[in-house]
Amino acid sequence: MNARAFKSGFIAIVGRPNVGKSTLMNRLLGHKISIVSPKPQTTRTRILGIKSLPGAQLIFLDTPGIDKSGGYFHRLMVTAAMNTLHEADLIVWIVEAGHPHSSADKFILESLGAVKSPIMLVINKVDLVEKERLLPIIDRFQSLLPLVEIVPISATKGDNIDRLESLLIEHLPEGPPLYPPDQLTDQPEQFIIAELIREKVFHLAYQEVPYAVAVEVEQVKTREGRELTDVEATIYVERDTQKGIIIGRGGAMLKKIGERARPEIEMLLGTQVFLRLWVKVRSDWQQDDEALRRFGYLQR
Ligand code: GDP
Ligand code: MG
Repeated sequence: MNARAFKSGFIAIVGRPNVGKSTLMNRLLGHKISIVSPKPQTTRTRILGIKSLPGAQLIFLDTPGIDKSGGYFHRLMVTAAMNTLHEADLIVWIVEAGHPHSSADKFILESLGAVKSPIMLVINKVDLVEKERLLPIIDRFQSLLPLVEIVPISATKGDNIDRLESLLIEHLPEGPPLYPPDQLTDQPEQFIIAELIREKVFHLAYQEVPYAVAVEVEQVKTREGRELTDVEATIYVERDTQKGIIIGRGGAMLKKIGERARPEIEMLLGTQVFLRLWVKVRSDWQQDDEALRRFGYLQR
């Protein structure tokens, strides 16, 4: 027998906002666990995603973008990302091929100095640049810190993802699976549903309601003997004017949000979904630990 030992471990995916961390995790998992948008700070807490293979279990930790500025809630998000650096067996640091030298990346570089686990650099969005642009980026990062691999990819196109996956497995420690093979995440179903709704709000109303939105799912209940689930959720905003925008003229915006979120919730639950949405004002939720806990952004 020359069976290879089973590999397993936690892989932290870190980087500045908007480089494609959540897109990459979803791509590697083959499922949408983490929400994605063209705006920074879409991901607000650590999102765990599990990939079980015959010879390995990869446990990804998607994180909020690391940068410096911001108030209480923002700092909470950055702390969540920083904490995963020390929980992980392997770090994937993502930079963008087109903009590899931001000041946030300098800050991350400093933070990685204290990390014991191996670090792999992933250069994402290679679909947006000429191939010749990559070589100087690789040279530069190699001179900055010890890296076990440097892997150029496109998370949206899928370029080089298989290669990245085998390299991740190679650098994971030996060990048994840590989660049941059919488990995809440790996040409660209700939280993932809330995130899918929040993503649609981000996509449809970002201009008007940037970071004010949080979503709480109050009920997920399957109707007896039927392939139909009732889902009830509340969208929280900070001001009355924002409430008006989310509801829209004659309820048009809220309807649109529901129409876009529903099919994704149906995919997740595997049943038809009857979705009911409410909008409420809660002006202080970003400063209120009780609210932050309820929305899943602060651990108990
Ligand atoms: P995060 O903030 O690091 O989690 O980034 P997201 O995963 O939310 O992605 C931010 C934006 O970058 C989204 O609009 C993605 O569609 C886009 N994006 C992610 N990966 C790629 C890629 O490989 N190529 C291109 N062109 N866009 C990408
Ligand atoms: Mg993200």
